Amino acid sequence: MEFANPEEYQSKIKQILITEDQIKEALKKAGERINAAYDGAPILLVSILKGAYMFLADLSREITVPCEIGFMAAKSYFEDTNSSGNVQITMDLTQDVSKYHVFIVEDIIDTGRTLNEILKILKIRNPLSLEIITLLDKPDRRIVDLKADYSLFTIPDYFVIGYGLDYGEYYRNLPYIAEFGN
Ligand code: 5GP
Repeated sequence: MEFANPEEYQSKIKQILITEDQIKEALKKAGERINAAYDGAPILLVSILKGAYMFLADLSREITVPCEIGFMAAKSYFEDTNSSGNVQITMDLTQDVSKYHVFIVEDIIDTGRTLNEILKILKIRNPLSLEIITLLDKPDRRIVDLKADYSLFTIPDYFVIGYGLDYGEYYRNLPYIAEFGN
């Protein structure tokens, strides 16, 4: 993706949907929920790269109980709407999840297909508990019957950028969440 100039780059940011302050407030509540899950076994926050990197960094700062961070990366191959099980893990966790309360920290749940496959993979490894915390939920687009245990914001069917989410690898660094538009 090429931009002629910074003005063109900025002009694609159509409208701010969720401000920095709104995100900060919601992070506190999500952190409280994770802290409350602590029962002596450590918490493992699992981030699926790359979209959740900023959310993970800020959310982890709200955690006051023993907590580790883990990363996974996956490639999805969903050429048609009927396919499933087409996820390849390209980077795996180093932790043995059976010793942790695991929280998957996700950027956005759209169709739900990628996360559904990752859930299956993690469940087989027998974590002490397994919950999904998502920054954004786009329920209108769901194909797989999957619900987050905790969602910070529910949004309509917009293509969004910022706070980790990209368009062609750009805009991840915006501190707010905005609608992308031409
Ligand atoms: P799913 O398997 O749920 O359809 O795919 C979810 C992934 O698609 C997200 O983790 C995210 O990377 C990408 N995605 C879905 N909706 C959006 C969106 O509105 N904006 C951006 N930037 N990425 C999205």
